[in-house]
Amino acid sequence: MQKITIAIDGFSSTGKSTIAKQLAKSLGYIYVDTGAMYRAVTLFAMRNGFVGTENTNIGALVKLLPKINLKFVYNDALGFAEMYLNNENVEKEIRTLEVSRNVSQVATIEEVRYKLVDMQKKMGVEKGIVMDGRDIGTVVFPDAELKLFMTASAEKRATRRYKELLDKGDKVTFKEVLKNVEQRDYTDSHREFSPLKLADDAIEFDNSDMGLEEQFERILNYSQRVIDKQ
Ligand code: C5P
Repeated sequence: MQKITIAIDGFSSTGKSTIAKQLAKSLGYIYVDTGAMYRAVTLFAMRNGFVGTENTNIGALVKLLPKINLKFVYNDALGFAEMYLNNENVEKEIRTLEVSRNVSQVATIEEVRYKLVDMQKKMGVEKGIVMDGRDIGTVVFPDAELKLFMTASAEKRATRRYKELLDKGDKVTFKEVLKNVEQRDYTDSHREFSPLKLADDAIEFDNSDMGLEEQFERILNYSQRVIDKQ
């Protein structure tokens, strides 16, 4: 059976990666979390003091971009690929609120987007891929056979993210998490290069009042219908 490309875009904390991971597993496809790539570049920038301080230095980050090596390494025990930054597993570190606070700024940088989009396009040449992010259906794979755009109310999304962070032992308040979700939505939707927007041919999927199982069943159904038509 011919493989397809599935692009999942949408606002922060809409559960894109949970669904995308599950979908990829059940179809036997590769899953790529592009947010992890932007987060890893952000971690690199933070460690070098280029962002997250009073003296933001985008120029210095851009200069060092060729020295940033990103790769996904599949972890058998976990059942998904983890993000490596210059051969170091940074999967845990990139998920903190600190990184979330700086990532949208780093994601506005044209050179950063250029580097990451190029890598992402290469990962998808053979199809059989589920990729999630903000510009997958619009920029990375404009010809994807299936495009989904996930939304949910900011409160619902912040509640989910807040629980996740608390479970991991992060000391955060709900207010901080909500503010971060709203700020990222704004920056991601208003940036100059590849802003987050609904592709003309994407299916909009509001999961504010939907459990994971129902979402997964519906999305698997959409996917099967598209695959069967190939
Ligand atoms: O998906 P996640 O919330 O981990 O993404 C973190 C951030 O990375 C987003 O808020 C956005 O600023 C950026 N991003 C992006 N384009 C993508 C994926 C993520 O700009 N394709």
